[in-house]
Amino acid sequence: MALVSPTITLHPSGAQLPQIGFGTWKHTGAKATEAVYNALKVGYRLIDCATDYANEEACGLGLKKAIDEGVVSRSDVWVVSKLWNTFHHKEHVREAVLKSLRDWGVEYFDLYYIHFPISLAYVSPKERYPPGWFFDAKGTQVIQDPVPLRETWCALEELVDEGLIKHLGISNMASVIITDLLSYARIKPEVLQVEIHPYNVQPKLVHFARTNLLAVTAYSSFGPLGFRELNMTKALDAQPLFTHPMIMDIAGEHHWHLHRMLVSATPAQVILKWAVQRGLAIIPKGDVISQMEENLRVGLGVGGTEAGSQEGGFLLSDAEMERISSLNVGLRFNDPSDDFGCYIFC
Ligand code: NAD
Repeated sequence: MALVSPTITLHPSGAQLPQIGFGTWKHTGAKATEAVYNALKVGYRLIDCATDYANEEACGLGLKKAIDEGVVSRSDVWVVSKLWNTFHHKEHVREAVLKSLRDWGVEYFDLYYIHFPISLAYVSPKERYPPGWFFDAKGTQVIQDPVPLRETWCALEELVDEGLIKHLGISNMASVIITDLLSYARIKPEVLQVEIHPYNVQPKLVHFARTNLLAVTAYSSFGPLGFRELNMTKALDAQPLFTHPMIMDIAGEHHWHLHRMLVSATPAQVILKWAVQRGLAIIPKGDVISQMEENLRVGLGVGGTEAGSQEGGFLLSDAEMERISSLNVGLRFNDPSDDFGCYIFC
């Protein structure tokens, strides 16, 4: 019963970005391999990864298994990675991309992001890989080594020219730096990936991106949940979205037919549907096949399909969309100023 995600048209390429992709942060080792393989079997056609996730080899093995078994061909899948902060100097960009490609076992990335507009001191992969947030000898301070974003961008453009990257993206960037980047980019970024969930709705940034023809991918759609896995105090203190009375109420109001059976929408589906109906791409991380299916089914009713099914999922009303958006308190869980002293959002 393969599910097919709706797509978003990218500008200027016209490429079709799967609107619902699969997130891999915190999946490691054999679990990452299995998760990627299962996600592809379920029907995901975009795998969101990054150097920093320390799982590119493992994810690549999952892709290889799916290709070897005829589940997908390489050209069916968007393989996505991100440049880590220690590789922003032009001479390190190529090194980082080539290493990630080797680890994945692929010849090109479909989409490659700059992970953060933060440049840290270079760490050789021989010394430590992935280097993470590299602290000084005392372990108290991140070592910044500012590089003009233009230098990093131009180095990435060269890799697009060589066919090693198909599309470029930017992540965790705010409007001022994007405006600057767009003023000189020979190859425009096509996707902006940022933290968006009902506690951090980011309406102005989404409007800005639309105005500048950038598709937006929302990460950490379930708000605190993904950060609870790290025992982050801010996330542990926040009201979980799945048990938020408003989200539960809205879920309880939606029933739809799935394989001729009447089912209820789940809180997870309500949260993801809210993002998808805003026109955002999403990349939820599912741990088990049932979650992967539940999340990908959110595409039904907004352009996604399920083999053998004529039934179209559920849709949120305008009033429900507004109610969910009213949870916005600008609560950001992934802010490098909290733990690393790197200020990018203020
Ligand atoms: P998420 O919001 O996708 O939540 C993941 C958690 O939700 C997991 O604990 C999982 O078990 C649970 N879950 C998933 N589906 C569920 C369902 N249907 N029912 C119940 N529980 C469910 O968290 P995330 O991993 O933080 O974000 C998703 C992806 O976004 C990451 O894997 C990564 O690819 C990307 N990301 C990017 C950045 C960036 O800086 N660009 C930062 C964070 C995450």
